[in-house]
Amino acid sequence: AGRFSATEQHGSNVRRKAGILPSLEDLLFYTIAEGQEKIPAHKFTTALKATGLRTGDPRLKECMEMLKVTLKTTSDGALDRHLFKKCVQSNIVLLTQAFRKKFVIPDFQSFSAHIDELYENAKNMSGGQVADYIPQLARFSPDLWAVALCTVDGQRHTVGDTKVPFCLQSCVKPLKYAIAVHDHGTEYVHRFIGKEPSGLRFNKLFLNEEDKPHNPMVNAGAIVCTSLIKVMNFMNKLAGNEYVGFSNATFQSERESGDRNFAIGYYLKEKKCFPEGTDMTSILDFYFQLCSIEVTCESASVMAATLANGGFCPITGERVLSPEAVRDTLSLMHSCGMYDFSGQFAFHVGLPAKSGVAGGILLVVPNVMGIMCWSPPLDKLGNSVRGIQFCTDLVSLCNFHNYDNLRHFAKKLDPRREGGDQRESFLSRCLTFVDYSSRFALSSMDMEQRDYDSRTALHVAAAEGHGEVVRFLLEACKVNPVPKDRWGNTPMDEAVHFGHHDVVTILRDHHTKYSHQDTGTDKQNAEKNLDGML
Ligand code: GLU
Repeated sequence: AGRFSATEQHGSNVRRKAGILPSLEDLLFYTIAEGQEKIPAHKFTTALKATGLRTGDPRLKECMEMLKVTLKTTSDGALDRHLFKKCVQSNIVLLTQAFRKKFVIPDFQSFSAHIDELYENAKNMSGGQVADYIPQLARFSPDLWAVALCTVDGQRHTVGDTKVPFCLQSCVKPLKYAIAVHDHGTEYVHRFIGKEPSGLRFNKLFLNEEDKPHNPMVNAGAIVCTSLIKVMNFMNKLAGNEYVGFSNATFQSERESGDRNFAIGYYLKEKKCFPEGTDMTSILDFYFQLCSIEVTCESASVMAATLANGGFCPITGERVLSPEAVRDTLSLMHSCGMYDFSGQFAFHVGLPAKSGVAGGILLVVPNVMGIMCWSPPLDKLGNSVRGIQFCTDLVSLCNFHNYDNLRHFAKKLDPRREGGDQRESFLSRCLTFVDYSSRFALSSMDMEQRDYDSRTALHVAAAEGHGEVVRFLLEACKVNPVPKDRWGNTPMDEAVHFGHHDVVTILRDHHTKYSHQDTGTDKQNAEKNLDGML
């Protein structure tokens, strides 16, 4: 019993500090190598992608550059422990988080598979009309359909036509509102613009009782908002420097066909809605230009993710917008973002979103991820048919609705939790986790945790006859083999009681092995090392 004193509760921390446990780089190596001497480069990148990280992620630049250089020095394209360490050490914190499943969507592969199913489901829809008021929009095929997402930890998934450029159109409205609030603060911006849904079509020539535009998500409000902002490099920062372009042809067409917007502009001018000294026609030009900013589904998903992440771009870590600006923006997207469907969308989907006439829907799951859906055919209210289907399906599947209860959800998936279900006990989590034992090295989970009956994972595994798990807990995790639960029972008592003879044998062999050879090795070394450090 001497081997497992009470001070070993925090055994692994002590042992890592003492240099007995391997470094983070080594742990990562063992985790990915799965018992092999070397890790082939493609195995590393495949494992990396499974966490949701991209090899092109700016946060992994050093690692990827070193990998490229190092691979040239090898004959077989594989990394031994030493070379691997050289490659990963600059980005070890992010990589460790990824492989420890510390990201907001821990089981990213299964979540991505769900997204693909939702994508396929919406793909079959054929209704809706592609906008044709200008040729630049009319030319798009109604079959185009893409979904891209980026989590607040920079995990990426894309499916469909995610690299085709299209114009943000009205999806730019929340972005420029956010920029205006970031630059001037809420109070100043709302001297000029209201915060209420208008209950009217987005391009209606109409102001509220105070002669202000109803909100920044409709044209009148967005035109006034345009007069409040100056800089454009915000767009690049929001997208983490991914694709942001400009369609000059769309700009020209919008201006030529923009009679209604000119009418709104003159009306706003008459009612003195702009800051003093504003040149209304050049503001309209800027408005049309902002509508004509091009993105891809992928780059726009990063913009959405920046909104999901309180204004910090997840893949660059840069602070682009103030948290205040982002909160205001999400609030108004929630109530006013989906044209005359906004109320229903807020009810059924319960997430902030903004759609545009090119078929984009910028969707934000606050604190979790940003999503861009894009498909040109629009329904009668001007929202992408496939996009709406996808958003609705997403919230039926996952508990992402603003008012889904996270503790007592009935049937929905919670992708923020490993295994998707948060109600399971820590013991069953231990056991599931042990099933994925190839990842064990990076777990920070304390395998000696006890439940309210003082039972450990080893008690449960022994009682249920999981021989593999028992062996794993004893040998890999080096847990105390004789913990007592609140009735004084040990795992051996459990195994005997439930007649699991194989488990009895494992426990007995383990006991024999350690009572003979071990008492003087591991522990004494640990203590010696600790002494050296103190
Ligand atoms: N260029 C269009 C307008 O301002 C944008 C329409 C939209 O995406 O809602 O009327």
